[in-house]
Amino acid sequence: MNEQGTIAQAIALDGVENANLRPPSPHDAEPIPDEAWAEIRALLQSGDLFRYTAADGGTTPVSRLERDFAAFMGVRYALAVNSCSSALFLALRTLDLPPGAPVLIPAFTFAAVPSAIVHAGLRPVLVECGDDLRMDMADFADKLAHAVAGGPAVVLVSHMRGHTSDMDAITELAEAAGVPVVEDAAHSLGTLWHGKRIGTIGRIGCFSFQSYKMVNGGEGGMLITDDEDIIAKAIIMSGAYEHNWKKHPLVSAAFERYQNRLPLYNMRMSNLSAAAIRPQLAHIHRRASDGRRNHDRLAQRLSRHPKVTVPTPLPGETRAPDSFQFLLDDMDDGAISRFVAEAGRRGVKVSIFGRDTDNARAFWNWHFIGEIPELPKTHAMLMRTADVRLPAHFSPADVDTVAATLEAALDAATAI
Ligand SMILES: *Cc1c(COP(=O)(O)O)cnc(C)c1O
Repeated sequence: MNEQGTIAQAIALDGVENANLRPPSPHDAEPIPDEAWAEIRALLQSGDLFRYTAADGGTTPVSRLERDFAAFMGVRYALAVNSCSSALFLALRTLDLPPGAPVLIPAFTFAAVPSAIVHAGLRPVLVECGDDLRMDMADFADKLAHAVAGGPAVVLVSHMRGHTSDMDAITELAEAAGVPVVEDAAHSLGTLWHGKRIGTIGRIGCFSFQSYKMVNGGEGGMLITDDEDIIAKAIIMSGAYEHNWKKHPLVSAAFERYQNRLPLYNMRMSNLSAAAIRPQLAHIHRRASDGRRNHDRLAQRLSRHPKVTVPTPLPGETRAPDSFQFLLDDMDDGAISRFVAEAGRRGVKVSIFGRDTDNARAFWNWHFIGEIPELPKTHAMLMRTADVRLPAHFSPADVDTVAATLEAALDAATAI
């Protein structure tokens, strides 16, 4: 800690970088909690890796994860799957939309989101995002009105990098239009909106356990809902073939209705993933508050820099961040490139969403959706928004090192 503090000071004071004095790697993960190890060993011994190995009424690591996740979120139903992309795909498939129906998403999101829409045979409609990185509500209202005029539609709110769009306004407009809301909460586990858990506001919420998210299962996802009909369809389509749905503790007439009537996409989670994931639920609260502490510490310091604007959250949002985004002000192309290079040389990897080659978060790279729309606001924002990983396990001294490194890089890039 002390050593790190001294490093931060040394860099801040004279801007001289030393190859040995660098911030820790943001790619080091927290270890999987010890509580997981006994269960994983038992699984390796028994070979029971498939989620439906238990007799009806028995539990498996996957069913226990579903039970605990539903309780944690305060919802009736949870279905574990192999990724958030699978959860999004299944969510859309449960809504019985005609082929090609429009799905409104923020234009600032990860390529997996429009991909899930295309996979489900639907059509992504990209909504402008402003300099606060959230959906522009005027553009949302316009595009929603246009979409519903043509027939059924869906709103898929992607809380990109954990930034929450105005869920009150979205819910109100969507309800008035009779359009269901699905939440892509892949990166928002632990985030609150007016005290309510993100992912529980829409009709369906989807989460990711990919290693760069709050809970690390390597891969994995979860679909949550309070709707019995939706969960029955999602369970069957996720691969509960024959009568495996009876192994979910919510047997009901809904399943009889869909027996043999839905395709089986086989997107199940393995018991090994669930065993690694479940003990981490107890750590979500700590990781969220440590992530918030780190984010706010860096935000407070960097927002004082004349070349930086840190987007402010909407009132009512309590975030659970593990990364940091900021906008570069009044910097030309050359200065922005120099900043990225200077930060990288000093040990902090900065991405500018719109400037990396083939960045999966720049909508103009999504050629698989067909014609790419003109979205000048989102385009301008992506061309000057920087992205830095800031894991919850970084100490405040580590955060100060990152801050000093970014300040030194900004100053070096703009001094010319
Ligand atoms: C990671 C992520 C996804 C995709 O999650 P996978 O589990 O990797 O499929 C979707 N949306 C957002 C906002 C994400 O951050």
